[in-house]
Amino acid sequence: MSYSNVHGVTGALIALGGYQAGGDPGLLAGLAAAFLSHDLLDRIGEKSYGDMRASFVWEFVPLMVFLAVVSVHPLGWVLGAGWIAGNMMDLIDKRLYLSVFGLVEPGEFFPCHRRSPTVPLTQRQTKALTIIATIGLLVISSTVM
Ligand SMILES: [Zn+2]
Repeated sequence: MSYSNVHGVTGALIALGGYQAGGDPGLLAGLAAAFLSHDLLDRIGEKSYGDMRASFVWEFVPLMVFLAVVSVHPLGWVLGAGWIAGNMMDLIDKRLYLSVFGLVEPGEFFPCHRRSPTVPLTQRQTKALTIIATIGLLVISSTVM
């Protein structure tokens, strides 16, 4: 179980790499790989950021950075599509994240949401991971256009 920023950035960068390597067919392969990367990343057991407010800040700020990058990057649409692909398993099982707020019941359609993570993280490591993801996004997206 990983958080949306890490899933989204991973998916975005995979999609960007696919598009750069192979144009439209490469993008399709990249989006498929971005989708599958979710299963792999869910083996990492992220620790809660803390209370609801902390969780909001630790996910909202990276999301704003991501949206800023998407809005200025010439291949922002590729990054955006990759973000969605990387988060798709959660978007489906967490019902567009509505279940996070207790508004609807979550599902367990994908195997990654039915098994326990194999790599447990501390809260510090969880925060470090999301910072690393955002720095990686900034560095790679500014060099790959
Ligand atoms: Zn998931």
